[in-house]
Amino acid sequence: MVVIATKNNTSYAICGGYGHTQLKEAVVPDFGVDVAKRSLSAKNMFVHQKLPSGDVFSLMRLLRGTYLPAMDDNNGLSVLKKLSGPTLNDELGARLDGGTSLLVDAKLDIRGVIGIIDKIEYDVILRKPIIEIESLPSVPNALSAELTKELYSRLDKKKLDGLVVDVDHGVRQNAETVTLSGSPCSLSVLSNIQELVESADSSKARHAHSAQVVVSTSSEELLSAKVGELVEGELSYKGTLYFRVDGQWFQVTKELIKRIESDFSNIDEMTFAESRLWAWPLKSSAIPKAKGCQCKKASKYICETCYLSLQPKGLGLIETHVQKVRQIELCDLVDPNNDRLLHIKSDVGANLRVLFSQGCVSGVLLDNDSEFRKEADSKFGYQFGKAKHVVFAIFPHKKGKKNVPDIFSLYAKIDIVQRARILRAHGYRVSYCIIDEA
Ligand SMILES: [Zn+2]
Repeated sequence: MVVIATKNNTSYAICGGYGHTQLKEAVVPDFGVDVAKRSLSAKNMFVHQKLPSGDVFSLMRLLRGTYLPAMDDNNGLSVLKKLSGPTLNDELGARLDGGTSLLVDAKLDIRGVIGIIDKIEYDVILRKPIIEIESLPSVPNALSAELTKELYSRLDKKKLDGLVVDVDHGVRQNAETVTLSGSPCSLSVLSNIQELVESADSSKARHAHSAQVVVSTSSEELLSAKVGELVEGELSYKGTLYFRVDGQWFQVTKELIKRIESDFSNIDEMTFAESRLWAWPLKSSAIPKAKGCQCKKASKYICETCYLSLQPKGLGLIETHVQKVRQIELCDLVDPNNDRLLHIKSDVGANLRVLFSQGCVSGVLLDNDSEFRKEADSKFGYQFGKAKHVVFAIFPHKKGKKNVPDIFSLYAKIDIVQRARILRAHGYRVSYCIIDEA
């Protein structure tokens, strides 16, 4: 149900049930936030934010506990989704919840609702905001539609740099089957954008972006959405950079880019020689396929598993990727001579978040949890307490693409910067290294 009330030249929609879905393209972004900023008590409110890189920060959020914006140095990287809490005086109800829309906690008939619209129109919106929260600016609807169109055309052309699949962690964990426009496909499409778009392209859908993804368990449907709706990431459009988070577009400010670049420049780049790793070979019949090989038809290079199986004699690196400790992969290799934890991945851009996430989760656990460390020590015959250097070794897997700007999109930079911050707080040195091709 949607009731439209017009005041002066502004229309307000009062929605019931799923009525709000009819209004998606028409509403003013952040209307509810604007009202909340002027009506909530700064002390007791709750801030709902989302970081641009989706669930990679879930561990960090967990550690942080109750959200305190004043103490949160990620605030500038966050997207403000909602403010909620008790109102300063009860003119707008006892509590309110302001995001795109406004939800008030009050027993009202339709006349009461109109009264609230009056209040907002003639009083609240004219006040100065009480609460100021730094976050990325959302973009107006017309531009938003343009950006979505551009994104969909890139998906259909398989130009996927800087884009990732954003499916809730819970959905991914519980998923038993996935279908794309009716045809069953692998669960891995929920985390691999390349695979998702390629599968969508070969499905019955007219365009890759419009293929319908349905995720289910044996008893219920967990998610049903179009491919295009599940994609987030960064998009450079007419010279400006935008983030898409939860289907919404945000403009990346110049100040933010400057700050990220400066933080990123503080992460040490290790030379390939110093890493003691070996060059990454092209596929050839002379290279035997390793157990668990994931070599891809489309790639000219061997897969990570095959690469790791080619360790030259005499290096003495411990192969920690072969066994997990309590479901956690510690790292791919340990260099016991230099006490380094080496994390290796053949990828670029936003997909590197898996690598940085693994490095961070295992680093924090090894430092915090002595029982976990003991298990790791006995499994691999090495004292993990000594390893205080995390190295992310990246193979860009595209010919001629081996410079930092080719590998690190802004998303990837944000990711590694955040992960490095956490790891440093746990006493680690953090480096990245670009692996040469053979
Ligand atoms: Zn392989």
